[in-house]
Amino acid sequence: MIIVMKRAATTQEISSVVARVESLGFHVHLSQGEERTIIGVIGDERPVDRTLFELMDGVEKNVPIRQPFPLASRDFKKENTVIAVNGTRIGGSKVAIMAGPCAVESREQILETAHAVKEAGATILRGGAYKPRTSPYSFQGLGLKGLELLAEARQATGLAIVTEVMAPEAVPLVSQYADILQLGARNMQNYALLHAVGEAQKPVLLKRGMMSTLEELLMSAEYILSHGNYRVMLCERGIRTFEKYTRNTLDINAVPVLQSLSHLPVIVDPSHGTGKWEFVSAVAKAAVAAGADGLIIEVHPHPDVAMSDGAQSLKPEKFAQLMRELWPIAEAVGRSL
Ligand code: PEP
Ligand code: MN
Repeated sequence: MIIVMKRAATTQEISSVVARVESLGFHVHLSQGEERTIIGVIGDERPVDRTLFELMDGVEKNVPIRQPFPLASRDFKKENTVIAVNGTRIGGSKVAIMAGPCAVESREQILETAHAVKEAGATILRGGAYKPRTSPYSFQGLGLKGLELLAEARQATGLAIVTEVMAPEAVPLVSQYADILQLGARNMQNYALLHAVGEAQKPVLLKRGMMSTLEELLMSAEYILSHGNYRVMLCERGIRTFEKYTRNTLDINAVPVLQSLSHLPVIVDPSHGTGKWEFVSAVAKAAVAAGADGLIIEVHPHPDVAMSDGAQSLKPEKFAQLMRELWPIAEAVGRSL
């Protein structure tokens, strides 16, 4: 449940309610809004008489949360969560554009791509230094060297960096270089990793597992929030279906459905969602039209020699063209880029 305090509630009244909630064995999540304070009561609340709190000074009402993911739910927080990253805001009126190669491969490759995507209007550079590959014989990423190159690209362009972290013990290291920690589809239900990024001081881009429901995605987000990190973005990147012409089936429904259930920003990945560069632009436009808060797109200067995901990577000039074409679509839905 959430306890909504009166506009005029005093600090003393708020503390008394918090103390009462804690004395009943619950965790408290305080949300200090512009107008009033909302107290999230987290735990199994079935045995508690909700009217208990209504009688306390300063309390306006209490509201049950209908979802199994209380902190991520719209019931808990009506306004959209806006995440500030290096001067960019994700979840506000601008559609955040993250772009770059699947993997960091070399200094030349990442710097060339970074300058190109920045020029085209992206504000965040993507690039994996640690790659979760299906085969142990495929390129696994440059590791620490890749992180250093990303930091160099940030220095050179001012772009923020989003990069994947695959293991809980790597979170401190990756956090030293990244502005946003990416949790890949294969790790959406790696609970030790969710716990670790929940304690990190960095925003998280949580990708939907390839066979996960939206509720499971939201439950994974809830793990991160419940460990104290509220800066989570949900990413639709396509799910596995019987369809074979595309790598995955991008679930466009995810955008309005997640936005109705949750206050967290929703990002769409049309690159993994289609697996083929020819279809990336159309699906990116559909995502913006559907109301996505951001896009994450793979861009590579030479997709034919890319070490991973070349088939779904846009060349810089195609990406720049897409950015131009996205503008009127963003404007039609009341956004900008
Ligand atoms: C990626 O972003 O390159 C990636 C591996 O994505 P996913 O986890 O969605 O497969
Ligand atoms: Mn990729």
